[in-house]
Parts: sequence; structure tokens; C-alpha cells
Amino acid sequence: MPASIVVGTQWGDEGKGKATDYLADRMDFVVRYQGGNNAGHTILAEGHTLKLQLIPSGILYPHITSVIADGVVVDPRALLEEMDGLSAVGIDPSHLAVSGNCHMIMPYHLELEKVTERFLGKNALGTTKRGIGPAYADKAARIGLRIQDLFDEKIFRAKLEIVLREKNLVLTRVYGRLPLTSDLILDDYLRYAERLRPHVADTSRLIHDGLRAGKNVLLEGAQGTMLDLDKGTYPFVTSSNPVAGYALASVGIGPREVERVIGITKAYVTRVGAGPFPTEDTGPEGERLGERGREFGTVTGRKRRCGWFDAVIARYAARVNGLTELFVTKLDVLSGFDSVKVCTAYRADGTLYEDVPSHQSLFHAAEPVYEELEGWDEDLAQVRAFAELPAAARKYLDRLQDLAGVPIGVVSVGPGREQSLSADATSHRDDA
Ligand code: GDP
Repeated sequence: MPASIVVGTQWGDEGKGKATDYLADRMDFVVRYQGGNNAGHTILAEGHTLKLQLIPSGILYPHITSVIADGVVVDPRALLEEMDGLSAVGIDPSHLAVSGNCHMIMPYHLELEKVTERFLGKNALGTTKRGIGPAYADKAARIGLRIQDLFDEKIFRAKLEIVLREKNLVLTRVYGRLPLTSDLILDDYLRYAERLRPHVADTSRLIHDGLRAGKNVLLEGAQGTMLDLDKGTYPFVTSSNPVAGYALASVGIGPREVERVIGITKAYVTRVGAGPFPTEDTGPEGERLGERGREFGTVTGRKRRCGWFDAVIARYAARVNGLTELFVTKLDVLSGFDSVKVCTAYRADGTLYEDVPSHQSLFHAAEPVYEELEGWDEDLAQVRAFAELPAAARKYLDRLQDLAGVPIGVVSVGPGREQSLSADATSHRDDA
């Protein structure tokens, strides 16, 4: 059986949690492939609103093995807290497997991120301050500590002491903070190790064997394409690679294993924090999108910037991820607008761009070129079939898929599992 990848096509918060939950039913493995406890999926299932930041949403299904793959950075304390939270509402987290190759977020990562963000002042990146960026930086610098290090106390202590010597110099001499003590860190982390031990596995082998045995594997990214370290709006990006290609490196499978690449696309666009956002609407309509869509961060509570659907980034996401289909979320939020806008191209420096301009200065200066489509008033939350959507909403979706160049597979009209409408990409066009 082939693998499928779920990837955000915008700046994150597209509703990947809901989409993964919808797809998970038919899956045997759900794998998280990058990021850390900064992702914040919200899932509404069986009467619980669950906020999962690290554990893949497949955990809600007892038949699914949830996997955290090598490319994720893990704060063991946060992971254990999340597992305890699941247990508290009666969800058994025992079918969670974590790669021993995952790098760990250490107390000095949290401390350093706090002080460096403060140091940057108004140029701060606005990170979630969970130590994720510093942990990825140490991974690239080859001084990171991995989960497997926990299971050899001598090695763990030696590595920790070497790293801490340098980190403490930076903390005390550059930032005037107190040094951290290796014994305290060691005590805490060795305690975490005992609880994590039953979950640590060779996840690459596990997934490979699963695929060979005909199992269905869903690879789930966090954040979104435009926040990708390489393909996003650098430096206003995350410290890992959400794009579909990275799923393969993180899990350790080849490209030929993947059949579907599903792009999660909100029916409008939001962005958290600083950085370019051509279709941002800072007026009353943007405000209304934010209110109707409850656009506040799951992890930080920060208000998200809101704007209209941007087909330029949708095409870009289709290209860099090799999308095979779109999963459109939050269509219900667009009810009640006289007209809805879609950005088809940008104008920058007197030139029309139908693709994301390759120089950041042009992207920063990009003005959206809009097409206006008829709006609809109907509340979509009760709609249970694609054909029951108002004609104007179906026309809007048709335009989205034409502009993106990728067929729509599913449309979501609310946070619940039952509010997902399967849109056979070819059949609905005739009745629109
Ligand atoms: P993720 O990080 O991509 O999973 O996105 P978030 O979970 O941060 O944001 C998605 C939010 O929108 C959650 O609160 C979901 O319950 C909610 N949501 C998902 N799909 C829909 C939808 O179709 N309509 C509405 N109104 N809300 C949705």
C-alpha cells in the first residue's frame, strides 16, 4: 500500500488536524514528520476538543499506530504532558512510537530562545519560545542530544556537560543569565527516559515493514509550505521543512512509496507573526474573517492576520509539493460576504507575476490582483453533501481548483468530523 502526505499549502493553521483526523479512519499509521510542540492541531472528536501539539492526531483511533519520526524535535516533558492529557480523557497513548533519532529540546534551548528573541527587540521572529529553533540549530551544528542518548547514561552525561559548558558561557556572559546545572537536567531527563522507553522504536523500519505488509501510512506535516525553511518566506519561517519532500527524509522511505500528496488549503488565508502576506486585509472584511473563523493561535493565543484566497501561493504549493489534490477547509467562514475575492496574480515593480516572485523584495512589495466572485448567505455548517452547497460556493471552489491547477478532493464546512464533504473532482462541475 502506498503512503499519503498531508501538507499545509499556506502559512499553517489550514486545519491540517481536522483533515488528518478525517483521513485517519482508513490509515494504519499516522506519522508526524517535522516541527515540534509548536504546531497545535485542534481536533473535535467524540465530544472532546483536543489540542495536540506533538502527537499525531491518529492517536484518537485505537487501530492506528501514531509515529513521531526523526525530523521532529521533541521536548520530552511536553510529550509526556500531552500523553497524560490524553489519558485523562480516556484516550490510550500506548500505541505511540517515537524515533530514537529525534533530537530533544533541552532546558537551555528554551532559555536561549527567550533571551535571543528579547535581544532582537522589534526584529524578533515572534517564535513560540518552545526552544524549537535552537534545537534544530544544534542538530545542524552536530551538538544536539537525541532521544536514544537517554538510554546510555554515561554518554548522555558526557554530551550534556560538553554542550552545557558553551551554552552556560553564552547565557551568563552574553545575556547575563544564571547558568544551568547539568545534574538537575540529568535527573529530569533520566526520569523522562523511563517513561518514554516503551515508546522508542526504529520508526523507519516500522513504516517500511508496514508498507511492505500493505498497510496505509499517512505522513503529516506541521505548519505550512510558506513557512518552510527553504521554500517559504525566509527569514519569517519555521526552523524545519514542512514541504512534502521532507517527509521522506524524516521517515526514511523513498519517493516511490508515495501516491497521494494532499494540500490542506483554507478557503481564505491567515498568517501568524511577521512577514509578507500579499492578500492580507487589514480592513473590516479581514477583521470579519478573523472573527468568523476564530483565527487565534492554538499554542500562543495570538490573533492571526487574515486575507483573501491567494491562488499564486496555491499554485506554488502545488508545484513544490507535487500536490495531487486539495482539501479545502473553513468554506463556512465565507458565508455572508456580498462578494468574495480571489487573488490570481501579483503586481510588483510594474510587472505582473503569476508565480511567487523569486526575489524576496518583490514578494514583500507584491500587490494582489483580485477577481471578485459572487458571495453567498447560506450557513454551510449543516450541509452534508457537495451538491447541496449553494451554486455560488461551488463556483468559488471551481475557480479555486482551476487557478491552483489541482482538483479538490474534500471540502470542510465546520470543525466536526461529519462536516467534510467529498467532492468528486470531476462530477460536481456539471451542476455548478
Ligand atoms: P492546523 O494547525 O492546520 O491543524 O490548524 P488549527 O487546528 O490551528 O486551526 C484549525 C481550526 O479550525 C481548528 O479550531 C479547527 O477545529 C477549525 N476548523 C477546521 N476545519 C474547519 C472548517 O471547515 N470550518 C470551521 N469553521 N472551522 C474549522
